[in-house]
Amino acid sequence: MPTGNRRPLWLRTVCTPGNLAHLKARRCDGCAQWTLTCESDVWESYDPGVITGADLTVAIILDRPLTRLEWFPGFGQARLIDEHMSRTLDPKATYLTLHRCGHTPISLTPFKPPKRAVTKNTWKSDAEPTIEDIKAFERVWKTPLSRLEQTGK
Ligand SMILES: [Zn+2]
Repeated sequence: MPTGNRRPLWLRTVCTPGNLAHLKARRCDGCAQWTLTCESDVWESYDPGVITGADLTVAIILDRPLTRLEWFPGFGQARLIDEHMSRTLDPKATYLTLHRCGHTPISLTPFKPPKRAVTKNTWKSDAEPTIEDIKAFERVWKTPLSRLEQTGK
């Protein structure tokens, strides 16, 4: 086994069991490199490094399709958004490139989940929602407005 081919730690952050985007850390059958594989309808594998800022230019020059990685801090889950045809790439956003077997990844930069809410507001700063918060949110979300107004008294 070649060195430097350990599973990147950040894949564990993104590929939590049962994540809604069906993301899994998987070794490529062809080149044995670790990839982030989206196991939805069509399986797609991505190189295990994030592309942002100047690396975007490199990806465009090399004609590597880009997929945006969106992170939901409250839920600790990621979602992939195909930017295949997009002409407006955001240099501050985080992207992944499709794994192209045998090609060196443009980036091996680990994904770091962004910190929550930049602006200080009425929420407790840096507080992550608890299971109870999420349950309460879901309960309110599912309750018809009329019933909610009654119970709110
Ligand atoms: Zn490969």
